[in-house]
Amino acid sequence: MSDTARTVLAGLGSVRSDLEDLYRDLHRHPELGLREHRTAKRAADALRQSGYDVTEGVGGTGVVGVLANGDGPVVMARADMDALPVRERTGLPYASTATVTDEDGREQPVMHACGHDVHVTCLTGCARLLAEHRDAWRGTFVALFQPSEENGDGADAMIEDGLTDRSPRPDVVLAQHVLPYPAGYVGTRAGSFLSAADSLRVTVHGRGAHGSAPQASVDPVVIAASVVVRLQTVVSRELAATTPAVVTVGSVHAGSGPNVIPDRAVLELNVRTYDDATRTQVLDAIKRIVRAECEASRSPREPEFERLSSFPPTVNDEEPTRRVAEAFGAYFGDDAHTVELQTASEDMSEIPGAFGVPFTYWAIGGIDPDRYAEAARKGTVAQDIPVNHSAAFAPVVQPTLDTGVSALTVAALAWIGDDRSA
Ligand SMILES: [Zn+2]
Ligand SMILES: [Zn+2]
Repeated sequence: MSDTARTVLAGLGSVRSDLEDLYRDLHRHPELGLREHRTAKRAADALRQSGYDVTEGVGGTGVVGVLANGDGPVVMARADMDALPVRERTGLPYASTATVTDEDGREQPVMHACGHDVHVTCLTGCARLLAEHRDAWRGTFVALFQPSEENGDGADAMIEDGLTDRSPRPDVVLAQHVLPYPAGYVGTRAGSFLSAADSLRVTVHGRGAHGSAPQASVDPVVIAASVVVRLQTVVSRELAATTPAVVTVGSVHAGSGPNVIPDRAVLELNVRTYDDATRTQVLDAIKRIVRAECEASRSPREPEFERLSSFPPTVNDEEPTRRVAEAFGAYFGDDAHTVELQTASEDMSEIPGAFGVPFTYWAIGGIDPDRYAEAARKGTVAQDIPVNHSAAFAPVVQPTLDTGVSALTVAALAWIGDDRSA
């Protein structure tokens, strides 16, 4: 067990109320992806106050803070900053009433429905504790605040904007996410953790005609219907039962009235897979089926495929995950768990990918432990515990924040703590 972690975290009591204030403030002022100006400024100001060398505006609103503290490993910890277009219904005294105007001029509600305010607060706290206890560790700590995780383009924006030249190259990248587990819980997982997510728009072409004269048409509604049914066989007939994947057709649009056969149909698909080989196989199968159904129906034009968004799979590297799991076991005891595979997705892995370094990403709980235990006892966790992206998602302030600050600190010190970097 790292005594260094206990030494550094002994300072938690003196920063706790500042962090709780910061958390409530961030929660009340959520910002959508690539518009996190206020959030980024709060993070940058806090880092500067703690003596970090701060670069702002990396990939729009990204922030990189560097604290060099002698020779030793370089650890980067990443927090995402963005909120979601959700109208908050938590009833909390610090609930968001924020709205923004989108590109089409419509007013959108904004809420921290995914807990990225927890992530920003915890990384700010960890960065401050490390700065206040420089005698207990050696090396470099990099605090990275990333924009626009929800849109899947924030990590990429930072990389495109020269992140690898604007930050020291880390030996490892660390990140965490608050999930609907009891607050106090920490969960690591070696290997596959989060799915890849691909959203695509498929346009199939027909030939429009009068509804009374189908012989004059190529009916895209029938093509779309056949595609939807046939796509169900990708997971059920082409993948082994031990290979998890999801293919969902989330929207189908064609036509404008009962007596007109339209000339096209548009389908929107969401695909979840856990490794690159399966991802390629499933995306290829979708294209093959769509093309074949179009050909079967004498479609006059090739179908079109447009990628709407894309997240890589999050596959935790073995060595750093083992190291963090060991440190968590020593610090958190029975609250340290192995977390299950999740069907959510993340773009975080693109950052270690750009540096060519390993990473590990873990879960912390955010639900009132008594409320969770009660739901578990009744077998109603799925119904009673609000999940991320729900309008009712409301992590309890404590012990969520203490756990998130401690987890980042314990994990970072597993590389840079005095008792590690001999
Ligand atoms: Zn989210
Ligand atoms: Zn999230």
